[in-house]
Amino acid sequence: MANNFVYSQPVKIFFGEGKFASLGDILAELGLHHCVIACGRHFASQAEKMREENSAIVGVFGGVEQNPQLSGIIETVKICRETNADAVIGIGGGSSLDTAKFAAAISLGDGEAEEYYRGTRPFPDKRLAIIAVPTTAGTGSEVTQVSVVSHGTEKKTINNPVFMPRAAIVDPVLSSTVPPRTTMNTGLDALAHALEGYWSRNHQPISDLMAIEAVRIILANLEKAYRDGTDMEARANMAYAALLGGLSFALPKTAASHACSYPLSEDYHLPHGEACAFTLDSLVRINADERLEYLCRAVGLSGTDELADRIAALKALGGLRTRLSDLGEVDLDKLCRDCAAHPLMNNNPVHMDEDALRRMFEALR
Ligand SMILES: [Zn+2]
Repeated sequence: MANNFVYSQPVKIFFGEGKFASLGDILAELGLHHCVIACGRHFASQAEKMREENSAIVGVFGGVEQNPQLSGIIETVKICRETNADAVIGIGGGSSLDTAKFAAAISLGDGEAEEYYRGTRPFPDKRLAIIAVPTTAGTGSEVTQVSVVSHGTEKKTINNPVFMPRAAIVDPVLSSTVPPRTTMNTGLDALAHALEGYWSRNHQPISDLMAIEAVRIILANLEKAYRDGTDMEARANMAYAALLGGLSFALPKTAASHACSYPLSEDYHLPHGEACAFTLDSLVRINADERLEYLCRAVGLSGTDELADRIAALKALGGLRTRLSDLGEVDLDKLCRDCAAHPLMNNNPVHMDEDALRRMFEALR
């Protein structure tokens, strides 16, 4: 019953094929005239070209790594200060967006980047605008206040309103060159966002609607986008579904699959989407209840078993790792301990302590 919730979504969203070509107009509309681009190496030369052609782009940091490092953020901040920037544009996967978010949040502060990272100094009151341009259909980072940042081997997920983008430009054309494996990983990450936002203990009705639609679209399009990356209809549908996935967990937060994904990424080096997918079908069965049955029927499935089977089939199609034996030598005690200790675990509708996690992982031997 929808009787008690607070819903807020402050990001202006520009969606559509070819929308990225209007970046100059969008920046002008937002009153931004000194923007720094943060991106990975694959986009760096294009970003330099944009800087030459568009006077509103004043700097480029083109060295964002897959797990974005604090050192890259410090570089971006330096460029922002030198160019007197008013915005940071993150272009790429979650790493570029998270780098842009963090750099924009601290550029106008007096403290060291590490102090903000450690939480020993509050984020400055004033910050640069964040423009998020995702090139993969997955993280939903363009509509959330989450930034995942690494410092050496340590990785931190920081959730703070200072990371909320001013605008998101979601252009499916940008995802057309993403390779199949990444398409599957990021698509399953989006599916995990929708399902976990939906079954989160903090679920709420408007987010639920977007979660159901995201699940429906992903189940109808992910396989197509994986098999044929040039299928622009499937790509556009996935870009939209990933955006909905981001919106559906932005307030409720994710749960056990994401909680387990962090130890799986850190100790066994699974990419984020693959790490979330590792436990997602197991958790569909564990979390099966009346609400999840409702979602399954709403998206045209017979029930939760079919949903779990569909996820398992997508993982198999993408060649993802699905068993503990695929991970090499596994320290199951440590894995269960670390998963249970993750704060997102408390968001799971079914209480998952170390024993419950051990039962889940034992079934994946
Ligand atoms: Zn995720």
